[in-house]
This record gives sequence, C-alpha cells and structure tokens, in this order.
Amino acid sequence: MANKNKIKVLIVEDETSISNFISTTLKSNGYTTIVSPNGKDALSMIPSHCPDIILLDLGLPDMDGMEILKELRKWSGIPVIIVSARSDEQEKVMALDAGADDYITKPFGTSELLARIRTALRHSAGNGNTQSDTFSVKELFIDFGKRRVTVGEKEVHLTQIEFKIVSLLAKSQGRVLTYDHIISELWGPYAVKDNQILRVNMANIRRKIEQNPAEPQYIFTEVGVGYRMVDE
Ligand code: CA
Repeated sequence: MANKNKIKVLIVEDETSISNFISTTLKSNGYTTIVSPNGKDALSMIPSHCPDIILLDLGLPDMDGMEILKELRKWSGIPVIIVSARSDEQEKVMALDAGADDYITKPFGTSELLARIRTALRHSAGNGNTQSDTFSVKELFIDFGKRRVTVGEKEVHLTQIEFKIVSLLAKSQGRVLTYDHIISELWGPYAVKDNQILRVNMANIRRKIEQNPAEPQYIFTEVGVGYRMVDE
C-alpha cells in the first residue's frame, strides 16, 4: 500500500542482515525505508529521495559514518541517529557534537529503535514540549516562565544553574546532551570544559527531584557522554 504520508527512513548500513532487520521492523511499523550499503551512495540518495530521517552506521566500507555526518551537516539539518557497534564513549560524544541527534549501540531492541526515531522526528518537527512554556513528565512539572519546578505536590527549589540544566534537558527531552554541550549552553562556548562542576550540580538536582538519587527516574546519566531527560 503506497502512502505519500509515510515517513521515509534512509538506512545506511553495509551489513545486509542488520539493514534487513531494521527495514523489516520499520516497515511493519508503518515507515517506508530505503537502504544504502555505503557512504557515497547515501550522500547522493539524500537530495534525490528526501528521507525524513537517517539511521547511520559508523563503520562503512568506503567512508566513516562521521565523515558522512560532517558532510551532511554542511547543507542539511535532517535528523540523524547513529547506529553503531562501537560503544566507545568518545565516539558517541564526537558524533553528538558533530550534529547527530542521537545514537543507538548495537545490539538494540526494536522498541528502543522506534522510540529513538519518534523522539528525533518530534524534535525536527519542532512540536512536542520544545515550544511550550511548561514541561511535564511523570510527576515532574516545570513552568519555564515562572521558573517554578514541582514534583507531585512538592515545590522544588533549584539554584539558577540547576534550573538552567534541568530546563535544557527538558527542552531536549529524550535526547542525550553531551557534557560539553551543556557546559557551552550554560557558560558559553569558551568555558572550561570541566565536567566536575556539572556532576556536582547534577547530584544536587537529583537530591531535589528524584525519589532515589541513586536510581534516577527523570535524568539519566549516559556514562562518559552526557545526560538525558526521560522521554515518557
Ligand atoms: Ca558496518
């Protein structure tokens, strides 16, 4: 059943078993898919096929996925999710800082893949919580204008920096923000990239908003990479 309204996903992946698996999963969930087994074809397919989102493998036969991402970001803001077997934290940080919207480490579950795609698409559409004056997930409620945060009935008193961190993560709900990204947003691009200050602030935030700071429900740590506000 051809449908013009279907979301088109470009899968850039050289391993056929993986691209078949992703493609089948996406099709059975209402997406259309196109596949490129290498970087060169992927870059030429983007302008002609106009995909809505790209799933990008880093280890490709002809070029590195990072090169594709950097090339693409010169002329396109299309959402890109890195799908990689590399679990190296530095790679993730580099990919996110180079403009990837998210990353998934292989092997991954179907529901995780679908959730990440929905999040990336929602952000690129610019709707969801991003444009709103308030934010809520589970018991956490933020009124950006009034600078007011509550968890259930309880009002939470955050310092200015703590409030900025929580707001930033809330506005990018579901996405990992790297430590460097958060630091630049808070203190400017030339600020010293000192994760320790961020960790201290995060520990204080968690004491205030989490029931059990050791097992956060709202803000997750992506070890060595950054933080993510829970999606739902
Ligand atoms: Ca590969």
